[in-house]
Amino acid sequence: MLRIEPAFESRIAEIVGARFTPEDESGDAHKYTQRLAKVCADNGVAFFYGSTAVALDAQRSVERVKSVEIRTPFGYQHLRARDIVVSLGSYSAPFLRPYGVRLNIYPAKGYS
Ligand SMILES: Cc1cc2nc3c(=O)[nH]c(=O)nc-3n(C[C@H](O)[C@H](O)[C@H](O)COP(=O)(O)OP(=O)(O)OC[C@H]3O[C@@H](n4cnc5c(N)ncnc54)[C@H](O)[C@@H]3O)c2cc1C
Repeated sequence: MLRIEPAFESRIAEIVGARFTPEDESGDAHKYTQRLAKVCADNGVAFFYGSTAVALDAQRSVERVKSVEIRTPFGYQHLRARDIVVSLGSYSAPFLRPYGVRLNIYPAKGYS
């Protein structure tokens, strides 16, 4: 462990073991998402920054959603689409609950 990370030297007496996973990597999440957004925009993706998804048009069944209602800084808008992907992180569960969809997603703080 000290060969890989000498910074642990001063606390070595308190450490009982370590595991190294060489396939793990770190990246710059901000840079990655900014560049990914640019690639998407260059390929025709429209982003509605500062907007909030407020409802699905799912009166009959969540399997047959035709549009999503969003609140933009300029008012409400209905976006129609063939397919709709809900990717609101831990907010996906409360967003979909009124439509009878129960997701096992629960927010947690800290490393888990
Ligand atoms: C403390 C902590 C540390 C972590 N550390 C790591 C790590 O080191 N490495 C790693 O790989 N992963 C890590 N994770 C996990 C990682 O952050 C998540 O797995 C990942 O961000 C999930 O991506 P997502 O796009 O599904 O959701 P999110 O990143 O949560 O994105 C959902 C987005 O939807 C937006 N949103 C919510 N409701 C609405 C709405 N109604 N309308 C419009 N937008 C909405 C939110 O503002 C948010 O921007 C960590 C998570 C936590 C909490």
